[in-house]
Amino acid sequence: MPVGRTGLVAAPQVFESVVDAIGHTPLVRLNRVTAAGGAAVYAKLESTNPGGSVKDRIALSMVRAAEASGELRPGGTIVEGTSGNTGIGLALVAAGLGYRTVVVVPDKTSREKIAILRALGAEVRVTPGGRPTHHPEHVRNLAARIAAETPGGWLAGQYDNPANPEAHYRTTGPEIWKQTGGRVTHFVAGIGTGGTVSGTGRYLSEVSEGRVQVIGADPEHSVYGGGDGRAYYIEAVGHFRHPETVEDEWPQSYDPEVLSRIERVGDAEAFAVIARLAREEGLLVGGSAGVSVAAALRVAAELSPDDVVVVIVPDSGRSYLSKYFDEDWVGRLGFDVGAPAAETVGAESWSGTVGFVPSTATVAEALEILGDAAALPVVLARPGSTEVVVAEILGAAVLSTLTAAPQGDLVTAHLDPPLPVVGIRETRTAAAARLADDPRPVLLADNGVITAILDRSMEEGVEWAFSRSA
Ligand code: PMP
Repeated sequence: MPVGRTGLVAAPQVFESVVDAIGHTPLVRLNRVTAAGGAAVYAKLESTNPGGSVKDRIALSMVRAAEASGELRPGGTIVEGTSGNTGIGLALVAAGLGYRTVVVVPDKTSREKIAILRALGAEVRVTPGGRPTHHPEHVRNLAARIAAETPGGWLAGQYDNPANPEAHYRTTGPEIWKQTGGRVTHFVAGIGTGGTVSGTGRYLSEVSEGRVQVIGADPEHSVYGGGDGRAYYIEAVGHFRHPETVEDEWPQSYDPEVLSRIERVGDAEAFAVIARLAREEGLLVGGSAGVSVAAALRVAAELSPDDVVVVIVPDSGRSYLSKYFDEDWVGRLGFDVGAPAAETVGAESWSGTVGFVPSTATVAEALEILGDAAALPVVLARPGSTEVVVAEILGAAVLSTLTAAPQGDLVTAHLDPPLPVVGIRETRTAAAARLADDPRPVLLADNGVITAILDRSMEEGVEWAFSRSA
């Protein structure tokens, strides 16, 4: 029971400051999305933290450790590169303790998270997400530079800061053990910095003398679980690998030794799970929770009703209303929005190989690939891959632009805005409304991957005509 500064013993859940209210999150049983006959699954709702995510725990822990070591001094500035939630945690801890905060976020970070950061008084710097790790604009490099250049600046460094997994070893793990009365048998969490799964997992494994199995949940393309690192749509978990990254370093916060296995989950499955959690369980959760709950459901289905699976729900769906819960956003990428098949754009009539220009091409090479096509997407060059992930499209190579450009330049120096994308599972009405005044060729997406390039003639609603695809 927390003891308040007044010296009075506080009632349960009464705290004397916002930082004291971090943690103590509930476990909620999933009742409808689970398979009959399998293990019980409990979601640990980290979204009930004051900053709305699991990251409040490590924000407080890293700040306290830096104060103790003297790295962070009164009046100092906290700097961090983050997908958003760690920044929110740091900004609220900073507000509570009297520090300034500067947060560097990749541009795929949701609008909502950026708005929350600003509302909490943080200075936000947005940087392009798809950068190799040595690039000066890479999130972590930019954050390190700002910290070094700011008087009194301190870089929180969640990726390599031992206070990150330590926070979970000290708080998340013991909470789960206590809440389940030691009955937990399996623990599932996504892997971003790896702090949650490593710290909580290590505690549960030690306290149960090896009985609790620790399972990492990872986006399908992420390198942690064996993917090639190409882009995916769920933010804040997994490990993207830029093809120009030479030495791919994993965070020190991640200890793969703690894990007994990794479950890989594709974007489409994660989107489907969060939609079900919202509609069938009343739980509005973020995309990374879709990855971890999908993994937990697979694990639970193989177990007996005596087993108890605990899965981390890192944050709330409220931070993603403009992404995963927005039909237009989900639909245009070719993911399911629940529209009747008869009303959707569909894929049946379109076939053919998809032409694209790799980002390493010169203008002359791009023109050769274009042939007589009006435009093609320019895609992050990923040797050995012919799959065009929408998230790896950098822009368009347009015939009229390139014929006027110096032939030896890189095509990336002469990019036109990306071509419009239409999803095969969105309604024709939604697609037509978005593209009505856009005469350019259209890219057709199926679960985040381009499957055709179309020229359009728009008579009577939407008539799609397949044209050349190089
Ligand atoms: N989900 C969300 C929403 C997060 O913000 C994070 C942290 N980046 C994670 C999952 C992954 O947690 P961790 O960094 O502890 O591995």
